[in-house]
Amino acid sequence: KPDKTKPDKTKLDSAPQDDVPVSAIDISGLRKAFGANEVLRGIDLRVGAGEVVCVIGPSGSGKSTLLRCVNLLEEPSAGTVRVAGAEITDPDVDIDAVRRRIGMVFQSFNLFPHLTAVGNVEIAQRKVLRRGRAEARRVALENLERVGLADKVGAYPAQLSGGQRQRVAIARALAMGPSVMLFDEPTSALDPELVGDVLGVMRGLAETGMTMLVVTHEMGFAREVADRVAFMDGGLVVEEGPPARVIDDPSHERTRTFLSRVL
Ligand code: ADP
Ligand code: MG
Repeated sequence: KPDKTKPDKTKLDSAPQDDVPVSAIDISGLRKAFGANEVLRGIDLRVGAGEVVCVIGPSGSGKSTLLRCVNLLEEPSAGTVRVAGAEITDPDVDIDAVRRRIGMVFQSFNLFPHLTAVGNVEIAQRKVLRRGRAEARRVALENLERVGLADKVGAYPAQLSGGQRQRVAIARALAMGPSVMLFDEPTSALDPELVGDVLGVMRGLAETGMTMLVVTHEMGFAREVADRVAFMDGGLVVEEGPPARVIDDPSHERTRTFLSRVL
């Protein structure tokens, strides 16, 4: 697949020094328990700069919790998470500064119903980044165009399809200038005919070299766009590798069982 815009991963993976931030996201020994419920039981996962990693796995395996730990919506019980070289699990970390570097797109779009598309993309820039009206507007329009919604900037969420709303949510995340993007089943709430538009935008984003960690059940997307696929079950990454291996020739029985249900 064409990924000429991406950095040379062989070089990234073989970088020997520990102090060089070779990964955009580096998750090590990550554990998360809710009371007695151990949801993440020691996750090691790295996403190199410009890489796309898709996380697949059954419901309840801990995929959302994993993403939520990466932007500190949940506090990890143990382990470390580094994003762009900064250890976000450091107790002294500036959580707001961390979140600004991480764009997150959820299954539900959470747009403000009383704001237009451009208003929704402007508001966090104004409130969190304290951008002025003109700059926030310019960046909002730029990113709405990037997700193919240049003709919908004045539309309210109720006037948009689910796929268009999700693209506004993606534009909103991009407008903050994140260094990595996290997606949690971004197309699961969409009617089937609208899924392709959103996946197309994500594919385009991947081609620009954005670092992406994507939880998805869209095996076609994972197969074509992901550099690596991680299969999670029971709070662990059971196997991980290139999509052609994990999806088309899995080595674990649990992966085979899961895939036989979704493919
Ligand atoms: P997935 O996204 O793979 O479906 P989740 O990460 O959402 O899995 O959930 C994994 C497990 O963690 C589930 O058993 C769920 O009930 C539990 N869980 C998730 N969030 C919370 C929470 N805030 N409090 C208690 N339990 C939670
Ligand atoms: Mg989930």
